[in-house]
Amino acid sequence: MSRVYNFSAGPAVLPEEVLREAAEEMMDYKGCGMSVMEMSHRSKVFDEIIKEAEADLRDLMNIPDNYKVLFLQGGASQQFAAVPMNLMKNKKAGYIITGQWAKKAFAEAKLYGEAVELASSADKTFSYIPDCSDLAITDDMDYVYICENNTIYGTKFKELPNTKGVDLVADVSSCFLSEPVDVSKYAIIYGGVQKNVGPAGVVIAIIREDLITDDVLPGTPTMLKYKTQADNDSLYNTPPCYGIYICGKVFKWLKKMGGLEVMKQKNEEKAKILYDFLDQSEMFKGTVVPEDRSLMNVPFVTGDADLDSKFVKEAKAAGFENLKGHRSVGGMRASIYNAMPKEGVEKLVAFMKEFEAANK
Ligand SMILES: *Cc1c(COP(=O)(O)O)cnc(C)c1O
Repeated sequence: MSRVYNFSAGPAVLPEEVLREAAEEMMDYKGCGMSVMEMSHRSKVFDEIIKEAEADLRDLMNIPDNYKVLFLQGGASQQFAAVPMNLMKNKKAGYIITGQWAKKAFAEAKLYGEAVELASSADKTFSYIPDCSDLAITDDMDYVYICENNTIYGTKFKELPNTKGVDLVADVSSCFLSEPVDVSKYAIIYGGVQKNVGPAGVVIAIIREDLITDDVLPGTPTMLKYKTQADNDSLYNTPPCYGIYICGKVFKWLKKMGGLEVMKQKNEEKAKILYDFLDQSEMFKGTVVPEDRSLMNVPFVTGDADLDSKFVKEAKAAGFENLKGHRSVGGMRASIYNAMPKEGVEKLVAFMKEFEAANK
């Protein structure tokens, strides 16, 4: 068996320890004679799996008691609609446009009400986070929306916007559990888990309880109403059982590693290795302003499209997979999520140095 260094933006690398454990439990989960894939979501065994996953996540993120944790399906993209459907009482919300995912959420919200663009970094291909200290936020806005870590462009909000008292909703898909967060500053935190937490198919939404009501937009599907999911502890219908089980294992792995404070240190260390190299390289350049750089997604370019493709091809042959940038940006992108070992980043940088010397 050989494993590559997988720099995919998502679905992405998972901790080997988790994969090994899952493999061991594949045929017979803890003596019940079947795989987690094969068991009823109403069984006692699965009930323990989902409850333990929630308890571990609450512990890791220090989630206050007045927040519900929901395990949902439909991808982060489905939340682009679920958020306005559940929250748009005044049919008005503010969006901060920092990349493709924010843009998509913004476009979706417009289907349901008035979505106002509060700020944008489109003028410089989303290479920075706009100043959000004094935005034109009005009291009648139901919420302010951000994409906290921009997977494609490699920017991250280092400071949350000043929402002037309006509820904040954040898509944290690509920075989920990468560092500690103060949950109480958000109305909703949600993310697809396939970037940093688990296999595709699960979305985790952490929602302040007072926002979970029957007062949703007319026509909101039963499945998309947060109250349906909350009243049924994420078991209104069959949840993505196996995915939740793997997420639970990742939560345990994170706790064993020392929790989110330790993960943050590790992630900073890893990112620094790559950014320091990019800052001194004559061939490779990071595309994001230093103060807004993501710890998770690191886009870079050589400035020459042919050289970029040559690099991606040779890197692949050397065991570094999925370094091609997003189709909308080009160049390269290294996603260095929690499960990417430091050694993977060190080896990538060593390879980049060699490539630079050989292609001067
Ligand atoms: C990947 C991604 C999405 C889309 O996730 P799906 O689960 O494919 O819908 C949304 N937002 C962010 C920040 C992402 O990285």
